[in-house]
Amino acid sequence: TAFNANVAEAKALNAFLIDTPEHALAAADAIDAKRAAGEELPIMAGVPIGMKDLFCTVGVEARAASEILNGFKPTYESTVSQKLWDAGCGMLGKLNMDQFAMGSSNETSAFGNVISPWRRNDGGNAPLAPGGSSGGSSAAISARLCPAATGTDTGGSIRQPAAFTGISGIKPTYGRCSRWGVIAFASSLDQAGPMARDVRDCAIMLEAMSGFDPKDSTSLDLPVPNWEAGLSSNLKGKRVGIPKEYRMDGMNAEIAAIWDKGAEWLRDAGAEIVEVSLPHTRYALPAYYIIAPAEASSNLARYDGVRYGQRNLPDGAGLQDMYAATRAAGFGPEVKRRIMIGTYVLSAGFYDAYYTQAQKVRALIARDFAQVWEHCDVLLAPTAPSAAFGLGENSDDPIAMYLNDVFAVPASLAGLPAMSVPGGLDSQGLPLGLQIIGKPLDEQGVLNAGLAIE
Ligand code: GLN
Repeated sequence: TAFNANVAEAKALNAFLIDTPEHALAAADAIDAKRAAGEELPIMAGVPIGMKDLFCTVGVEARAASEILNGFKPTYESTVSQKLWDAGCGMLGKLNMDQFAMGSSNETSAFGNVISPWRRNDGGNAPLAPGGSSGGSSAAISARLCPAATGTDTGGSIRQPAAFTGISGIKPTYGRCSRWGVIAFASSLDQAGPMARDVRDCAIMLEAMSGFDPKDSTSLDLPVPNWEAGLSSNLKGKRVGIPKEYRMDGMNAEIAAIWDKGAEWLRDAGAEIVEVSLPHTRYALPAYYIIAPAEASSNLARYDGVRYGQRNLPDGAGLQDMYAATRAAGFGPEVKRRIMIGTYVLSAGFYDAYYTQAQKVRALIARDFAQVWEHCDVLLAPTAPSAAFGLGENSDDPIAMYLNDVFAVPASLAGLPAMSVPGGLDSQGLPLGLQIIGKPLDEQGVLNAGLAIE
């Protein structure tokens, strides 16, 4: 039947690692009971969402799409998922992702890549990457398998997959969403956020996910605004900065064109468009690819075969052999690459040359942004330098893969709120994303500019 064909098609995307329909049904029942009792219903009452596999939820395997966490069933709930359950959501399942959130195409998953539901006009049926690392989330939403999903963004992993699949996603200011119970990649950068079909849904879901949590030492102790109530696409009196350093040599012409269009739409919405400068932009990507692996190498030291998940113990082996066998078998190649880069840049002889230097660059990037807010309220830029690429196209070339993050990482290094909204389709019929970067804590300004583009 058509229904079964659709189910098979949906499964072929490989977006969900684990299905948890009982969780979504229990949430729906709880809402029904509330309704029957005449109680007020929470804002996301009964909405079935997808949960990125990086989030711990009680009793459901959480693997960060890595073999090393095989069998790890958390006994605790991440703060963000608990907040979503409190807001009335239920969970449809755990979503595929790049292993430990390291990647831009979802191809580093230990459980197979995710396939984007999109195809090029002239590409036959060649499968495309859904972006990464939240590629299960982006594919599931754009294929209409779920109305919304959680994502995490360390260096673009909400925004770039949203751009590749024609959906919206926002990374809030660092500290808005608790990291407690979210499997750590690079703790000074990791932020959770919503991915959904439009800006309003993102605003509603972000509000549900945000808020102070004493269990995360970097959580912001600030009230959560009602972002949905504050939505307005009237940008009168607002200045939108176009950062000139983002207009890179050899930039894809279709990306440049959609960026210009985005500026026009914001002008039509009442904003003044100004050219601005973020002089250290070109150092952001190299700094990110030192800082993120450095933190990852430390965070991932805990996967030793003793405390979590999988253990590989060759016959007659000692403790060291067990560590080595477990890590050799459990981590995928990209994760091993990051651990090696991270331990290298943190080692005694190289620490100052790489890690300290990257931290200085990070401070300069943050200062660029701090100064730019004297000239504008939000920034507009492309989300990624290309539309979705084919599966396998960049997977042998880590540098080419890393370059896809060039527009995403500066806001991450500075901890700023940043969103991707669909800008339109390219000549191949593929979605292109526009990115709005905002001042610290100004998610409202970001969402409103997104609404004006959408
Ligand atoms: N693509 C980037 C990386 O591989 C960003 C990942 C992320 O934001 N989790 O590090």
